[in-house]
Amino acid sequence: MEPVMHRVRQRVFHRLHRALILPKRNHSGCAEKADVPPSTHSRRIKPTLLVSRLYQPSNLRDVGQDSRLPGEMTCKSQRLMQQAGLIHPSNPGCYYYLPATVRSMEKLVRVIDQEMHGIGGQKLDMPSLCSADLWKTSERWDLMGKELFRLKDRHGADYCLGPTHEEAVTTLVAHQATLSYKQLPLLLYQITRKFRDEPKPKFGLLRGREFYMKDMYSFDVSEEAAYETYESVCRAYTRLFARLGLRCVQVQADTGNIGGKLSHEFQLPADIGEDRLLVCGNCSFSANVETLTSDRTDCPQCKTGTLVESKGIEVGHTFYLGKKYSHIFNATFSNAQNKQSIAEMGCFGLGVTRILAAAIEVMSTEEGIRWPGLIAPYQVCVLPPKKGSKVDEAAVLAEELVHTLGETLPGLRGEVVLDDRTQMTVGKRLKDASRLGYPYVIVVGQGALEETPRFEVICQQKGETMFLSKDGLLDLLGRVETV
Ligand SMILES: [Zn+2]
Repeated sequence: MEPVMHRVRQRVFHRLHRALILPKRNHSGCAEKADVPPSTHSRRIKPTLLVSRLYQPSNLRDVGQDSRLPGEMTCKSQRLMQQAGLIHPSNPGCYYYLPATVRSMEKLVRVIDQEMHGIGGQKLDMPSLCSADLWKTSERWDLMGKELFRLKDRHGADYCLGPTHEEAVTTLVAHQATLSYKQLPLLLYQITRKFRDEPKPKFGLLRGREFYMKDMYSFDVSEEAAYETYESVCRAYTRLFARLGLRCVQVQADTGNIGGKLSHEFQLPADIGEDRLLVCGNCSFSANVETLTSDRTDCPQCKTGTLVESKGIEVGHTFYLGKKYSHIFNATFSNAQNKQSIAEMGCFGLGVTRILAAAIEVMSTEEGIRWPGLIAPYQVCVLPPKKGSKVDEAAVLAEELVHTLGETLPGLRGEVVLDDRTQMTVGKRLKDASRLGYPYVIVVGQGALEETPRFEVICQQKGETMFLSKDGLLDLLGRVETV
C-alpha cells in the first residue's frame, strides 16, 4: 500500500498544480485553453469538460409528464429530451436545441455528409426565404395551401419560408447555360432549416413546424440514368441507418404533392409512428397502407407471404420526379450530339432532427436516453467518488484518467466529460448519467486505488457492467467509433 499512497500524494500535488492552470476566462466569458507556465511541466494540459459547467438546464429535470404545452401531445423522446435538458419548447412546434442536442446533430450531419459525398453529392445552401414567383410557376403556391408559411416583404412582394426546394434548385441549374452531359449526374444537396405550418405539431422534434432536413436533388441525362441515381441514393440511406444501428424499412409510397412516378419512404417501426405500414413476413416487400388499394393481406411480390401491419416514423423519402420541374423551369444540358435536352430529376429527403428524435424514441428506455453510439453528444462520462467519502483520494485518479483518455485515444478528444459534482453521491450521478445516456460511464472508486487499479465501466447501450484495468479500458474505448 505504501507505494500507492505515495503515488496518490504525488497526484494530489499535480492536481494542486493543475488547479492553478485551469481554463482562464477571456472577456467574452468563453473558456480559453490554459497556457502551461514555463515550469517543470512540459505536458500541455487541456481543460477538462466538467458536467457542472455543461448547459443542460436542470430546472427542466423534473417536469415529468406535465412537460407538454397546451394542446401539444407528448411522447417518450420528447419527455426524455426535455427532462435531460436537451430541448426546450418555445412556441408550438418550435424548440430550443440545447448544446448536447447540437453536438449530436453536428455528428449526424457529418455522417450524412459522408454518405452523400460517397455517392457524389455536393453540398450547397439555398435561401430559406423563397420568392412566391417560383412557387406560382410550379403551381405549388396554391397547392401547398396552409402548410406554407407565407410572408410579404416591405415592397409587398410575396415570399414563403421554404419547406422544400425543387423550384429553387431547378431554377439554379436552369441558369447554367453551359451544363454538359459530362457533368451529369449532378447531385446537389443541403442540410438546412425547413418550415411547415403543421396543423397539429406534436411529439417534440418528430413533428415540428421548424426542423432540419437534408434535401438532395439529382439531375440525369436519361430516365435510365435517373433510376440508377435513385437506387444509389436508396443504398446510401440504407447504409446510413445501418451505421446508426437503426432498423429501417424501405416502403413503396405515395408521391403526394411533390409529384413524380416512383417513391419510397424510409420508416423506423415504432409504436407512436403516424404511418401505417404493411410488411411481408416472407420477403422484403413493404408498403405504406395508403398505396395499397384493397385491404389485402397477401403479399403482391412473393405471393406466399402474409402482410402484417406495423406503425412507422417516416425518416426519409425518395422521389423520382422525371421532367416535372426541369420542364417547367427549363433545366437543360447539352447532350452528346451537342443538342439541348431536358434533365431527368429525382429528389431525396432525410428528416435530420426527426432521425435524432426517432432514434431516441426507438432506442431509449422509459427512464433514460439511449443514442446511436456514433452520434451520442459525449461518448464517456467519468465519475469520481463523493467528496469526503472514504475513497475520496481516487478523485485525482479520475481526473488523470480523463486526461489520459484524451491524450491516448485521439478519437475521444472532446468526448470525455468529468462529473465533478462530487457533493452528490455516486448513485445520484449515475442516475443522471443513465438519463443522459452516455454510451460509457466509468466509476472511479475503491478499485482504482488498489495495487492493480480497476475501473467499473457501464456500457449503457448494452446494459452491461465490467471491471477493467487501465489497459483493458483503453482497449475497449479505443474501439469506439466517433465521427
Ligand atoms: Zn412477400
